[in-house]
Amino acid sequence: MSSLQDAFRHVQTLIDEAKQNGHRTDDVSLLAVSKTHPAALIREAYELGQRDFGENYLQESLAKISELADMPDIVWHFIGPIQSNKTRDIAEHFQWVHSVDRLKIAQRLSDQRPAHLPPLNICIQVNVSKECSKSGVALSELPALVMQIQQLPNISLCGLMAIPAPEDDPEKQRAPFKVLREAMEQLNQQHGLHLDTLSMGMSDDLEAAIAEGSTMVRIGTALFGRRDYSEKTQ
Ligand SMILES: *Cc1c(COP(=O)(O)O)cnc(C)c1O
Repeated sequence: MSSLQDAFRHVQTLIDEAKQNGHRTDDVSLLAVSKTHPAALIREAYELGQRDFGENYLQESLAKISELADMPDIVWHFIGPIQSNKTRDIAEHFQWVHSVDRLKIAQRLSDQRPAHLPPLNICIQVNVSKECSKSGVALSELPALVMQIQQLPNISLCGLMAIPAPEDDPEKQRAPFKVLREAMEQLNQQHGLHLDTLSMGMSDDLEAAIAEGSTMVRIGTALFGRRDYSEKTQ
């Protein structure tokens, strides 16, 4: 058994245990975060059955997407910060975007989504740790942003995403995830929406995220090992 296969089995076991502990029988999907890792490793993961991959850096991801174009059912998720001059490439090459936190970006993604493709799946990134994060819409501004994004023709608004501040204590890790889940529940109740995606949980906090209702964990390090940024230029 390859070490990558070991890592996928280990992460799947962690997900299954967390679901069991949280008495959950619904799905928690695994998004494999492949940023900084080569296309060959993604191909290996694909051959193990993984289909969803998350990328943060546009130039790097476009090179990998084209290199892996022979795998038609691979699903690409953009999860990094988005500058407006990057939206066209994202709209053309990705099926999901998890890091939308302002209307202008959502509008551009909708405008630039090619007509032959289905609507782009989007999660709105919410700032659940006020002190330290620059990304994500404030909770107080979330309902208005949701209502505006809902109107966009080529966007399918699926749910919410958050990256809480790092926290070692597993019990304390749950608080921001709870905030995100309750925000989604409130949006659904008060505005008659059917949001169903909570993109939350990374290698160090996936158990807490699943305990609080995560439907998609974004896992990099626990699958692919530590990232080497030394050659990164962007
Ligand atoms: C890098 C990254 C991850 C994966 O983090 P790990 O700790 O390596 O699992 C998840 N989500 C986002 C938005 C990321 O940038």
